[in-house]
Amino acid sequence: MARVCSECGVTVDAGDRFCGRCGRPLAAQVLAGPSGRGRWSSLWVALPIVAVLAAMVLTNPSRQTYANWLAARVVTSDRPNARAIAPGSLAGVIANATIAQNDLIFTVFDTSARGLRVDVLGIFGRFVPLGAGPAG
Ligand SMILES: [Zn+2]
Repeated sequence: MARVCSECGVTVDAGDRFCGRCGRPLAAQVLAGPSGRGRWSSLWVALPIVAVLAAMVLTNPSRQTYANWLAARVVTSDRPNARAIAPGSLAGVIANATIAQNDLIFTVFDTSARGLRVDVLGIFGRFVPLGAGPAG
């Protein structure tokens, strides 16, 4: 978004406090559509945001990655009464019991199995448990 002087209409830089042509103070200028040099300055502002979003999209974990992660956690957790089950097949069970809400830059995984419900946020290739409780 480029700023324009409301007095003379010339395009001014986002950081300018006074119009370069007529000298009018620019504190209360309205925002105009992209044009001229302003397009480039807003591009530089947007670039880091775009880079972060691109990184989030690339690292947005898949349901299978999530299932493998959760299966590893279940297998390694200390549960003496748990049946011995191969992590691979457990991951398949978890994947089938999971609803993945993919929001492109992150995914919320909702797994309901054996009366238990687990909510996990997948973001930047990592998994953040949001909560667990009885399935309802
Ligand atoms: Zn001006």
